[in-house]
Amino acid sequence: MYNAKSMKAEEFIDHNEIMESLKYADENRNNLEVIDAILEKAKLRKGLTHREASVLLACSDEEKIKEIYALAEQIKKDFYGNRIVMFAPLYLSNYCVNGCTYCPYHLKNKHIARKKLTQEEVKAEVIALQDLGHKRLAIESGEDPVNNPIEYILECIKTIYSVHHKNGDIRRVNVNIAATTVENYRKLKDAGIGTYILFQETYHKESYGQLHPTGPKHDYAYHTEAMDRAMEGGIDDVGLGVLFGLDKYRYEFAGILMHAEHLEAAHGVGPHTISVPRICDAEDIKKDEFSNGVSDEIFEKIVACIRIAVPYTGMIVSTRESQKVREKVLHLGISQVSGGSKTSVGGYAEPELEEDNSAQFDVTDQRSLDEVVKWLMDLGYIPSFCTACYREGRTGDRFMSLCKSGQIQNCCHPNALMTLQEYLMDYASPETKKIGEALIEKEVENVPKEKVKEIVKENLRLIREDNRRDFRF
Ligand code: SF4
Ligand code: SF4
Repeated sequence: MYNAKSMKAEEFIDHNEIMESLKYADENRNNLEVIDAILEKAKLRKGLTHREASVLLACSDEEKIKEIYALAEQIKKDFYGNRIVMFAPLYLSNYCVNGCTYCPYHLKNKHIARKKLTQEEVKAEVIALQDLGHKRLAIESGEDPVNNPIEYILECIKTIYSVHHKNGDIRRVNVNIAATTVENYRKLKDAGIGTYILFQETYHKESYGQLHPTGPKHDYAYHTEAMDRAMEGGIDDVGLGVLFGLDKYRYEFAGILMHAEHLEAAHGVGPHTISVPRICDAEDIKKDEFSNGVSDEIFEKIVACIRIAVPYTGMIVSTRESQKVREKVLHLGISQVSGGSKTSVGGYAEPELEEDNSAQFDVTDQRSLDEVVKWLMDLGYIPSFCTACYREGRTGDRFMSLCKSGQIQNCCHPNALMTLQEYLMDYASPETKKIGEALIEKEVENVPKEKVKEIVKENLRLIREDNRRDFRF
C-alpha cells in the first residue's frame, strides 16, 4: 500500500502506485485540459507530484512540450540565475564486493586494475585538484568492508580537508559511498561532509535484484532506505540519482520523485540534489547491451520535467555526457557540472596508462576545467566555486526555507562572483581570465542590494590586490 511517510522501501516506492501513475499519464498524455492545469500549478513554483510530472513527461503534443521546456527554463533562471556550480569526483578505491552488472568495479571483473589510494596518494590527488582550481569534491569508493572500511573513508576526508596547497582549499567534500548504518552516517556527519550521495540505480525492485545479483547491495530495501538512515545519523543534505538506461525511464522518473516526496513527508526536507547519469561504456561494460537506453531528446525532457517537479533541488550532470548534450540541458535545469574529471583511481596526479585502466566509466567530455569554465562563460553562465551554505550551517531545512523564500539568491550570486574571481587569479589561462574579468565587472552590477554590492566590490578588490581569499555570504 503506497504511503509516502512510511519508512519501508516497498511502501514509499510502491510498485502499484508507479504503474497506476504511468497508466494515468498514458491516458492523459494529450489531454490538453489536464496538461494545462498541471502547467498552471507548476507556474506557482512549488513543484508537482510524481503523477502530475509523469503526465508532462509522457506528453507528446509539440506545442505543450515547447511550453514545458520554456517553463523549465524560466524556473531554472528564477531559482539558479545564470550560475553553474563546479565540482570534481575523486575516486579513492575501486575495490568492490558487489556484483553490479553495469559497473566495471564488480567483484568478478578480474582484468580491471584494482587500486586504493594511500593517504600520501590522496594528498597528491588533492594537490592536483587544487591546482586545477577545484574547491568542491565528490569522493567515490566501491563497497568493500576489508579494503574500504568507514575508517578509511573518514581518514581520507580528514586528509582532504587538511591539504592547503598555495591558495588552494577543498571546502566541501560530498560523499558517494555504499549504503551503510546510522552509526557510520553519524561518523560521516561528524567528519564534516557536505552532501551524502547515493544513486538508487533503479527503483524497479525486480530489475534491481537482477542487476545486483550478489553482494550487500543486492538488498533492495536496505539500499532504498539508506537516505532515511543518513538523516537519522544527522546528515540533512542527501543526493538522489538513478542510472538511466537500466530500466524504463518513465518508471525511474516516477520512482525518484516518489523518493523525493518521501524525504519531504518523513523528514521535512527534500533531496539537496538529483543526479541524472545515463549508462555509458566502460572497461568490460557496453552500454548497447542495455536495452533501456535513453535518447538525447528524452534525456532533455527528463531534465526539464525534474526541474519543474522539484524547483528547489539542485540537478547535476557529469562528464559522462558530451559537451553538446551538457549545453542543451544546462538551460533546462542543470545547476551543477563536473569539469576536468578523472574517473580512475589516482588519475589526477598521474595520468593513467591505457593498459592500467581503473576507471569507472569512459569520460565523454574530456575538456580541462579551464576549458569548461571558459565555455560556460561564453554561453553566458557564471561558473561558481561556492561552498558557502554548508560552511555557514545552511543545510537541510534551514537551506530549504531560504531556498523557498528566494533569499538564497542574495548569497549565491555574490558568492559565485567572488569564487570565480579567486579562480581567475589563481588558475585561469590568460584568455579565460580576460573573459571572466569582463563578466564579473558586468555581473557585479546585478547584485540587487546596494550595500551588498559595495561589500562584494571591496572583496573582489581584496582578492585581486591583496591576495585575500574565502569571502562568503
Ligand atoms: S556500482 Fe558501486 S557497488 Fe556496484 S560494482 Fe560499481 S562500485 Fe561496486
Ligand atoms: S550560496 Fe549556497 S546554494 Fe548558493 S551556490 Fe553557494 S553553496 Fe550553493
